[in-house]
Amino acid sequence: MDLEKGGIHLCSEKRDRANELSIDIIQLCREYNENIITDPGHVNIFPASKIPKRLHHLVSPIYRNLSGASKGSLGSRDNMKEQGFRLATESSTLQGFLQCVPDAGVRKVAYVQGNSVPHANLEVLDKLIATRHEFAQLMGYKSYAEFALHSTMAASPEVVLSFLLEMSKVVRPKADQEFEAIQNFKRENSGDPRGELEPWDEAYFTWLMKSATYKLDSSVIASYFPLPQCIEGLKVLVESLFGVTFHKVPLAPGESWHPDVMKIVLHHPTEGDLGYLYLDLKSRKGKYPICAHFAIRGGRRVSETEYQLPVVALVCNFSGSSLAPVRLNHFEVETLFHEFGHALHSLLSRTEYQHFSGTRVVLDFAETPSNLFESYAWDYRVLKTFAKHYSTGDIIPKELVESMVGAKKMFAATELQRQPFHLFRSSMQ
Ligand SMILES: [Zn+2]
Repeated sequence: MDLEKGGIHLCSEKRDRANELSIDIIQLCREYNENIITDPGHVNIFPASKIPKRLHHLVSPIYRNLSGASKGSLGSRDNMKEQGFRLATESSTLQGFLQCVPDAGVRKVAYVQGNSVPHANLEVLDKLIATRHEFAQLMGYKSYAEFALHSTMAASPEVVLSFLLEMSKVVRPKADQEFEAIQNFKRENSGDPRGELEPWDEAYFTWLMKSATYKLDSSVIASYFPLPQCIEGLKVLVESLFGVTFHKVPLAPGESWHPDVMKIVLHHPTEGDLGYLYLDLKSRKGKYPICAHFAIRGGRRVSETEYQLPVVALVCNFSGSSLAPVRLNHFEVETLFHEFGHALHSLLSRTEYQHFSGTRVVLDFAETPSNLFESYAWDYRVLKTFAKHYSTGDIIPKELVESMVGAKKMFAATELQRQPFHLFRSSMQ
């Protein structure tokens, strides 16, 4: 099936064309991503007072000549300049910005600008859609969606569509209630009793409502999650779920790529060693800036009696100085658990061929173990085993975990509704 995805079964003329189109698709995808990085868009905001101090790290200062200053006015040229700020509307900065800027006008320009760049991608997308369509038809499929889904568990675009429609129907009443609650909150807090909820309002008012209801302080939460304890928590979890233990093993000379790297072996009391895991969790200069799981070697059956053990690496970017132990915020704890779910998927799978080992499964199953593990990071029964205050040793209070879960669930229906929304918006255009 994998070879047929590349067109091995086609006549040589069609196969050549399929090869050309595959290369074009890869290049267009790369161009699309590069454009996002090189042209994040920006907005200039005047006067500087519109941006609260706590957001100054997201923007850079700029100056403009004050219009209307008469030629004869006193003072030097410098005095006639007004300070403002420039915001690069790159997606993660924009998100943090929209949550915290009280001025609706500023939120609007940032939202509109951030969601309409890079313009060059309009053309890239048109080309990509046309190229993918030609490729899919060459392969004998009606559409690219049909081609892309045919080897997944969902199997067809119709299944995906009906699933999303059904889900949307179930979630709709709750999402409507949430919408009304946010709108009412806006009306009460903006002094405009008829104010409509605009797209650039949602992040701001939901954030305000969450903080008002749960009064969560991320630094207080982080004090319960020193990194070594989080690893200890994962240890307790795999032991209780799978009867598997893990412990640190020494590295051979030249085996690791950095002194921070730790090697762990997974062990089962009767099956013996199950696989190896490298942990490289702290950020440092020049390091790949995301959190990810890498399969270094897949498992496979070598002979009747021998199995090649899988080797994987977890690379994260948790910050902290080398002097103090790193403490994770809860999003990072969730990320660590997620990536560890991927690692276990690789380490615990037993397959005949390396090609099918671990996370090399149908695309829509690949995130199942990681999502399961993510949910453990929200479960008090799991958290109480390891989340202890770095100085007092107190176990994380149950009420605190309940507040964290409450804040996460507060607009859950709205979050879910976003998926079908994107789909139907794009199919309507
Ligand atoms: Zn994942």
